[in-house]
Amino acid sequence: MDFRKNQIYTVTIEDIGTEGEGIGKIEGFSLFVKDALPGDVAKVRLTKVKKNYAYARLEEVVEPSPDRVKPPCPVSRQCGGCQIQALAYEKQLAFKQSKVENNLIRIGGFEPEKIRRIMEPAIGMEHPWRYRNKAQYPFGRSKEGKTVTGFYAGRTHSIVANTDCLLGAPENKKVLEILLRHMEQYDVPAYDEGNGQGLVRHVLIRKGFFTGELMVCIVLNTGGGAADAKMERVKKEEDTSKTDEGYHTCHEEDAVAGTCQEKITWCGQRKKWIPEQDKLVDRLAMLPGMTSISVNLNPERTNVILGKETHTVWGRGKIRDKMHLLQTDGDGFMKTDKSVIYEISPASFYQVNPVQAEKLYSTALAYAELTGKETVWDLYCGIGTISLFLSFAAKQVCGVEAVSEAVEDARENARKNGIGNVRFFEGKAEEVLPEFYRAGEEPDMLCPDVIVVDPPRKGCDETCLQTILKMRPERIVYVSCDSATLARDLKILCGGGYELRRGRICDQFCQSVHVETVCLLSKRWRCC
Ligand code: SAH
Repeated sequence: MDFRKNQIYTVTIEDIGTEGEGIGKIEGFSLFVKDALPGDVAKVRLTKVKKNYAYARLEEVVEPSPDRVKPPCPVSRQCGGCQIQALAYEKQLAFKQSKVENNLIRIGGFEPEKIRRIMEPAIGMEHPWRYRNKAQYPFGRSKEGKTVTGFYAGRTHSIVANTDCLLGAPENKKVLEILLRHMEQYDVPAYDEGNGQGLVRHVLIRKGFFTGELMVCIVLNTGGGAADAKMERVKKEEDTSKTDEGYHTCHEEDAVAGTCQEKITWCGQRKKWIPEQDKLVDRLAMLPGMTSISVNLNPERTNVILGKETHTVWGRGKIRDKMHLLQTDGDGFMKTDKSVIYEISPASFYQVNPVQAEKLYSTALAYAELTGKETVWDLYCGIGTISLFLSFAAKQVCGVEAVSEAVEDARENARKNGIGNVRFFEGKAEEVLPEFYRAGEEPDMLCPDVIVVDPPRKGCDETCLQTILKMRPERIVYVSCDSATLARDLKILCGGGYELRRGRICDQFCQSVHVETVCLLSKRWRCC
């Protein structure tokens, strides 16, 4: 058949690809159709034709799949965030389970029977909505010239206006509306990626789900393009600003009431970055739970959201959250009396789905099989979340993390929770671990019982894996947010004498195609 762009076909969707796209075939020619689901009979329009396959857009669902549900979000198709919102939740879990299993088989080279035998039931969510504790909203201008915020449409940089993402906390909408109103009222320009002009780039909102504490960090463009008349106006305001004395004391009383037991430093920042900054801060500060308002300065013309400099303009520089250690009997999870309080800075990594993170960490801890005598490394430890869970059941834990702010948080978290058997090293896992190994001190740490790794999507660096193999821990617990790199790394570890024993997926990112996996490996043979 002669396939050409813009042709329309009716096709039965038979499969789902790794990015959640529907896959159908016409006379052996594969069509990849975004937003189509297995079981749909769909009318599709070809958008890009290759030699053996084509991409197509869903024009109309002629006969819906039995697994199709009505997406509750009105912009689910335009927005790039939730690729599989139209798929029934149990089927989302089944899709993720088979995505991970396929990667382990295809990339990891494991036997299919083995993978099916060792993989345990997926850990899903009872209410897979409003689970995200963190939102990063970009600001921009609509075609009509209005300031908008929302999410980037899939694979583009045009903003789909939406102040109430159904994955996020309801408070996000209030923060965004205050910001939009302020920008409109005082003519504060949104950042324009195209020419580097404008001021407000993003807002980062975080909520401690357990504590109710809210953090707002407004990311500003301080590059060349921002130095326009508006900034002059801000300067003038700054010159005539009030003194520190008495500044913001009313909010201090409001916000401290009932929320904090300990002494905290409140910041009455006089320096201004945003026109009529006091008015904006006043409004934001009145939101229930507001604990930290900061500005982050990002002068670079990049896609990276946060710049290097953050200034607290109201409240504390951090928020706190609490996580409970859970006991698991395989299926269910029950709260134990152990919990950890975490301090979280704007730039630190913190799991976005705290309800599922408790289950994930508790599973990792169960896989580590600790008895209280063990020495454990926790590589890629962030603010020490997993390390502190491990510390309950190990003799000693050593965390390694590349971001210095996160390491500071990790140390403070250990101290504030009264946990004395953890230490944190700042640096890259692939540098800290080999250096430690070369130095040859502290025999316990050189021959640890367990090494836990929780790397970013790109997985572990080969040097890090090789050092783990040299250290030969009894067990390795691999926590992964990308099953392709997980499979690649497990292949290396299993090639170096380890056996994959257990695996389980935990749905941290419901409605999206992303999935978190925990695996346990143990030594295939004992060394002398
Ligand atoms: N275990 C933590 C963090 C996991 S996210 C938690 O669950 O909260 C991955 C972490 O690895 C991030 O904090 C990131 O800053 C850190 N990181 C990225 N590359 C690294 C490297 N090469 N070495 C050490 N840490 C790294």
